Amino acid sequence: MLRPNPIVNQPLDHPLLEVKGLELSIKRLDLIHDLVPGNKFFKLKYNLAKAQAEDHHTLLTFGGAYSNHIHAVSQAAFALGIKSIGIIRGEETLPLNPTLKAATEKGMQLHYVNREDFRRKKEEGFIKGLKKKFGEFYLIPEGGTNAEAIRGTSEILSDEDESFTHIGTSIGTAGTFLGLIQSASLGQNILGFSTLKGEFIHKEITDLSKVFGLDLSIQHQIFTDYHFGGYAKYRQSLIDFIWWFYEKFGIIIDPIYTGKMLAGIWDLIEKDFFPRGSKILAIHSGGLQGNEGFTFQTGIKLPTLSR
Ligand SMILES: *Cc1c(COP(=O)(O)O)cnc(C)c1O
Repeated sequence: MLRPNPIVNQPLDHPLLEVKGLELSIKRLDLIHDLVPGNKFFKLKYNLAKAQAEDHHTLLTFGGAYSNHIHAVSQAAFALGIKSIGIIRGEETLPLNPTLKAATEKGMQLHYVNREDFRRKKEEGFIKGLKKKFGEFYLIPEGGTNAEAIRGTSEILSDEDESFTHIGTSIGTAGTFLGLIQSASLGQNILGFSTLKGEFIHKEITDLSKVFGLDLSIQHQIFTDYHFGGYAKYRQSLIDFIWWFYEKFGIIIDPIYTGKMLAGIWDLIEKDFFPRGSKILAIHSGGLQGNEGFTFQTGIKLPTLSR
């Protein structure tokens, strides 16, 4: 079991919030665990418990070369003293980027597959091949969303959060968004900000809710126009927002997930989306390991945790 730090909701202070009659707090999941921060702590929690209960000694998962999920699985396996294997999309490039470097430093074994093979990651035959190559393992899907993950993300909100009218989160595979919807109170509105371009996410969420038998009766809304060019893409305005947010509030956010969500929430505040008196809780889902990788890839400086 990974032991979580206490979770805090940090209220933000800004003239715009006063003018609009709003409260905005950040749920600092980025501080929940030193090795496995953010929503990944919750997404992995019951997967790790299951892997241990089933006496697995290896975790295997899939991801891109900068993936927060790959990073989180490597750190979690290290913390539990078990092995991990990362199946990485694309070819190896050296030197390793900061994400994969950190993963291998914690003992993750990397195995690169081309895009075509990577697409077969859910096929039985492909997984059989991996078992032949690596032996038995506990498989966690790419992005980490499965029934155990949603059980975990349903624990992000606590009773004290019932007073919030709106809860904002970033959406990748939607495991976090769906967990929040499962656990929110009647009258709360869950706002999801998709980091991926396109409208497919609506169908994806309907499909996932069928597969996992989820209740979508809590009010929720998905925003698909804050992707800033698409997944892992960015615009200068996003970089500027991340620096502005850091300078104003002292909180580091990332360009893939939390930056886009908070830029979205701030834009909605300016546009009077929220009725006066609304209390907004934005989930800081972590992802800060990616800031170094972003700089590595683009040369653009971002605030980072200095270690
Ligand atoms: C993985 C991740 C997400 C996306 O979570 P999903 O459950 O896949 O929607 C959001 N924010 C951060 C920081 C992440 O690392």
